[in-house]
Amino acid sequence: MSETTNFIHEIIDGDLASGKRTEIVTRFPPEPNGYLHIGHAKAICLDFGTAMKYHGKCHLRFDDTNPTAEDVEYVDAIKDDVRWLGFDWGENLFWASSYFDKMYDYAIDLIKLGKAYVCDLSVEDFKAYRGVPTEPGKEPAGRQRTVEENLELFAQMKSGDFEDGAYVLRARIDMTSPNLHLRDPAIYRIKHAEHHTTGNTWCIYPMYDFAHCIEDSIEGITHSLCTLEFEVHRPLYNWILETLGATQPQQIEFARLNLTYTVMSKRKLLELVNEKLVNGWDDPRLPTLCGMRRRGYPAESIRNFCAEIGVTKTESVSDVALLEHHVRDILNENAPRRMAVLDPLKVVITNYDENLVETFELPNHPQKEEMGTRTVPFTREIFIERDDYLEDANRKYKRFTIGREVRLRGVYLATCNEAIKDAAGNIIELHCTIDPESKGGSAPDGRKVKGTIHWVSASEGVEASVNLYDRLFKEENPAAEDGDYKELLNPESLKTINGIVEPAAIAGAGTTYQFERIGYFCTDKNTTPETPILNRTAGLRDSWKG
Ligand code: ATP
Ligand code: MG
Repeated sequence: MSETTNFIHEIIDGDLASGKRTEIVTRFPPEPNGYLHIGHAKAICLDFGTAMKYHGKCHLRFDDTNPTAEDVEYVDAIKDDVRWLGFDWGENLFWASSYFDKMYDYAIDLIKLGKAYVCDLSVEDFKAYRGVPTEPGKEPAGRQRTVEENLELFAQMKSGDFEDGAYVLRARIDMTSPNLHLRDPAIYRIKHAEHHTTGNTWCIYPMYDFAHCIEDSIEGITHSLCTLEFEVHRPLYNWILETLGATQPQQIEFARLNLTYTVMSKRKLLELVNEKLVNGWDDPRLPTLCGMRRRGYPAESIRNFCAEIGVTKTESVSDVALLEHHVRDILNENAPRRMAVLDPLKVVITNYDENLVETFELPNHPQKEEMGTRTVPFTREIFIERDDYLEDANRKYKRFTIGREVRLRGVYLATCNEAIKDAAGNIIELHCTIDPESKGGSAPDGRKVKGTIHWVSASEGVEASVNLYDRLFKEENPAAEDGDYKELLNPESLKTINGIVEPAAIAGAGTTYQFERIGYFCTDKNTTPETPILNRTAGLRDSWKG
């Protein structure tokens, strides 16, 4: 894995040099309320990559403090995705919910210190008390409660005496702070809901800001890396740990990843899935990691993309074309070559024996002998791409037209003699002859044949269902547009066609090939040998160079 550096690593270098830290511990803290997307990949590469660089540890911690949105389905998917991306948390798997007892004790500590109180204002009413940054807020009456009263009320909150929303526990900080997050933020709320790990043990749950810093502190995290929107929460993060006298990780914020032609918010992704605007979380058009995996994006290409965009404090939108560039980069090296015809036109080789099936050993990769060969059958009837024939071709056209000789990839030189048309004038079949002396694709007399086209045997080839994917959205930045982002979906983002592929292109799910002159295709999870299903991963950089 390529090693990178960034402003966070410079901070860490300083901490190690000064002796402030001797071991580096980071964490990736997903909330199990959705599938991971490429934005999370940036955080994963940074969190795990930093730990690897400094021979430290990276914890995978499920931030499961909100019982209503979370589900074990997501837990398993998140683990699969992190592993697939190439990272390993080893023994360091943690759950925020396993700290609920400690968090409750910490809340009691705050109450005893006079630094937390039970407040009966509704969310709306409190907003009015809190006010705006430019003017001081108003103190809620609950602030005047004694420690004993607060302890009593908080115990009652815990034992289920109150309805959801009747009370919250607030940190007692500063109702005049220009930072609204420090104006007595809620740290515990009542929520009568079953939790996926703690069941019905609790009916009060800690708020994110209270829970997260405590989780980091308990685990001995040294550098807590998060996205920029948490910068304004940092004073609260530090206040809680300082007030409790707990060990202090350092929170450092970086810019989140945004990508063109897609949306990344979990809420929107969930909507697209639930409203069946896409085919599940692993729809190959989605920016989810499982979607990209199903599409055929190699994990390495995602890591390389993350390394290239780097880690900064400046918000930006990355071009999805850069991601695709990295996908091609890896696949061009690694994907075995095959032949497929997506818009078939039949060709009859009139001077070739009807019953003959000749087999040819063609290389899996033009530059990499070590990748071996595969067997390709050739027969009297083959398919070529419809646009590899042109009736009125000029001299520059190097594919089939009447009288022109073309190389059929790897097998013979062939000359097109006749185009058969139906009553409406559509070309339905070409009649060609091969030069039997040109076996392998070159003539014994050394004559030059410039054009090479791909083909598939009509009788030996296999029909496949091919999903051609395009951008999910028509607009470059659908999330930024006014109005409903769903109106900006690209109606042509999925086109399914039937193609015909050479027998050696039938493979297990997840196998990616380069179909010569067409692009990269990955075998779908629902494929069968009888009905192969292929997903277009990416086009070629320079397609159709005949
Ligand atoms: P939400 O805020 O909608 O729940 P989230 O994407 O922030 O969604 P988390 O599960 O909290 O979900 O994210 C886990 C980690 O991934 C967090 O540390 C978060 O900062 C990071 N992360 C999430 N989205 C991005 C992104 N687009 N770019 C970089 N990091 C991200
Ligand atoms: Mg979040």
